[in-house]
Amino acid sequence: MPPHEYDYVVIGGGTAGSVIASRLTENPDVTVAVIEGGPTDVDRDDVLTLRRWTGLLGGELDYDYPTTEQPRGNSHIRHSRARVLGGCSSHNTLIAFKPLPSDWDEWEAAGAKGWGAVPMEAYYARLLNNIVPVDEKDRNAVARDFVDSAGAALGVPHVDGFNRKPFTEGVGFFDLAYHPENNKRSSASVAYLHPVMDERPNLRIFLETWAYRLELNGTRAEGVHVRTKDGEEILVRARHEVVLCAGAVDSPRLLLHSGIGPRADLDALGIPVAHDLPGVGENLLDHPESVIVWETHGPIPENSAMDSDAGLFVRRDPASPGPDLMFHFYQVPFTDNPERLGYERPEFGVSMTPNIPKPRSRGRLYLTSADPSVKPALDFRYFTDEDDYDGRTLVDGIRLARQIARTEPLAGWLKREVCPGPQVTGDEELSAYARKAAHTVYHPAGTCRMGADEDELAVVDPQLKVRGLDGLRVADASVFPTIPAVNPMLGVLMVGERAADLIGGAA
Ligand SMILES: Cc1cc2nc3c(=O)[nH]c(=O)nc-3n(C[C@H](O)[C@H](O)[C@H](O)COP(=O)(O)OP(=O)(O)OC[C@H]3O[C@@H](n4cnc5c(N)ncnc54)[C@H](O)[C@@H]3O)c2cc1C
Repeated sequence: MPPHEYDYVVIGGGTAGSVIASRLTENPDVTVAVIEGGPTDVDRDDVLTLRRWTGLLGGELDYDYPTTEQPRGNSHIRHSRARVLGGCSSHNTLIAFKPLPSDWDEWEAAGAKGWGAVPMEAYYARLLNNIVPVDEKDRNAVARDFVDSAGAALGVPHVDGFNRKPFTEGVGFFDLAYHPENNKRSSASVAYLHPVMDERPNLRIFLETWAYRLELNGTRAEGVHVRTKDGEEILVRARHEVVLCAGAVDSPRLLLHSGIGPRADLDALGIPVAHDLPGVGENLLDHPESVIVWETHGPIPENSAMDSDAGLFVRRDPASPGPDLMFHFYQVPFTDNPERLGYERPEFGVSMTPNIPKPRSRGRLYLTSADPSVKPALDFRYFTDEDDYDGRTLVDGIRLARQIARTEPLAGWLKREVCPGPQVTGDEELSAYARKAAHTVYHPAGTCRMGADEDELAVVDPQLKVRGLDGLRVADASVFPTIPAVNPMLGVLMVGERAADLIGGAA
């Protein structure tokens, strides 16, 4: 056997990639190489301790992607993407929502045949992560009071276990993928790779190794060119398939650098076109949210799983199949963006963050250079939808947040509204504040979207195969045709489980 040849080459040992590599190597006769840009997470307390998540943002384990100028939004947003085994599941807050049935059915209607709610249910049952409601000892008193006040103010039901049954509205503590006894992550790497990575000779994980170009022979993907930690350039070959799992930013980026993408864009940069595929990088989705911050009368109790343990879902439009406004409740004053607008961070405080479950604005990722080391441009086009649905959702959110804040028992904790501040009341002013103070909850998706065979802008078909090529699939958040109303990580893990099935079935 040539030195670097495997049955499957998985590019990216992140959230979906960990699932796929683990599942494929259950068969001892199948060999898999994982190409992972980051180091291992094994024995790294800074990574494995959930509550230390903010310490990872912007650090050495973050690719840290800037966004382009956002005329109607916040141009200073940086998109954290994890550079470590387990990918963003090793960086994130591990809020764990099974996508709602209406989310999957929307995919099916968008051309993702076979991805409806009924068949997808089986993949949830397979997940190996420890998914549990926030533990009693981690339930902070102020978060409990937020839950009670939101229920009383808005008349939404208390939910204990959001994954137990589909919901359209509700307030409660989240389910998390964690181990409450020691606050350790149950990330994709912890759940899928740690138990097997030293046991399986058929699984080879290349760490700190960067994939920079796919090897194509005509229309067939035969492997990937990588640069190892020591700077050595090698070609890792796939006998059967290359599976691209580099995430919603780096999967389209690698396709584009391999000459797979919109012809005019590639020509303009002098990248030889291998396969004209106009949808690569289009349909950039996210869950933007804004923030309203209160100063509290004193310190907040210390106990918590990760400082944002409870949330609220509202359905404003009864015709909507799912929730159309969401809130995270932060037990800290989250003023990173408001401070840029001149607000001061109070010593003690809490925040509510109105979030758009089904945003209508659509962005685009594109290259600005043929040099693979130059970061791609991320233009989310936040708040640019024609009817200003996205902007209005945040305004509604701030008004509802104030209603909750006026209601006991939460009201008793709050000294004053810091931002936007009680003097900001008009629709226009609230919208301007909400959009300029907006941040991301790091859910980019959709840039290699799945669609029907005849859909010109689809990048992959419902088998996750790149349209018009052989031996190449994409399986990660980039294949999402639309964004789920809930946080996406479990959806990505389920994409990983289904991808392993599809690949196994093909073999
Ligand atoms: C700070 C933060 C908080 C979040 N909180 C939540 C949450 O609480 N709940 C939730 O549901 N979702 C959350 N998300 C989103 C969720 O984590 C992601 O949607 C999901 O993990 C994405 O998985 P993925 O497989 O698409 O990509 P990733 O998990 O990012 O995996 C991509 C992997 O590919 C590697 N890679 C990339 N390019 C290359 C290359 N060229 N060569 C080699 N390796 C490469 C990366 O190092 C990475 O390991 C959060 C995300 C972040 C960043």
